[in-house]
Amino acid sequence: MQKEKKETRQVSDILDMSLLKWRIEADGLELLVQGFKEKKILGRKCHKCGMVYVPGPSYCRKCFIDIQDVVEVSKKGKIACYTVNLADVRGNPVDEISVAVQVKLDGSDSWMMGQLEIDDWKKVHVGMPAELILREETTGALADMVCFRPI
Ligand SMILES: [Zn+2]
Repeated sequence: MQKEKKETRQVSDILDMSLLKWRIEADGLELLVQGFKEKKILGRKCHKCGMVYVPGPSYCRKCFIDIQDVVEVSKKGKIACYTVNLADVRGNPVDEISVAVQVKLDGSDSWMMGQLEIDDWKKVHVGMPAELILREETTGALADMVCFRPI
């Protein structure tokens, strides 16, 4: 009997980021940035399953029904995953190391993306408490989001 061999393959290539497309539903994003004006983080809750999304889509990803219920969630949450950017897209070391995070805000079931402001990237870990920092004077724009900071 021949033992099944697992095949692994390493692919080395340059990824053209301009080919990637990101889609955020405009009204969910509009709701989020309007909330920033009052320093609130607003999302939508599904009235059927209770899922809370930030930014809030117009329909529940689980139930496939329209959702309109607006809910406020905390600015505090926990890091769900992160990426430490040590090199640029060509593999050259960067001058300033940055950490991109996905944070599950308390009261939300989805993750929100941002940059983590931290003195030592080696301290970052999944489950680390972090808080969303907004500009002192918010205008209702995505740029109101400054960063996440460890709590
Ligand atoms: Zn649902």
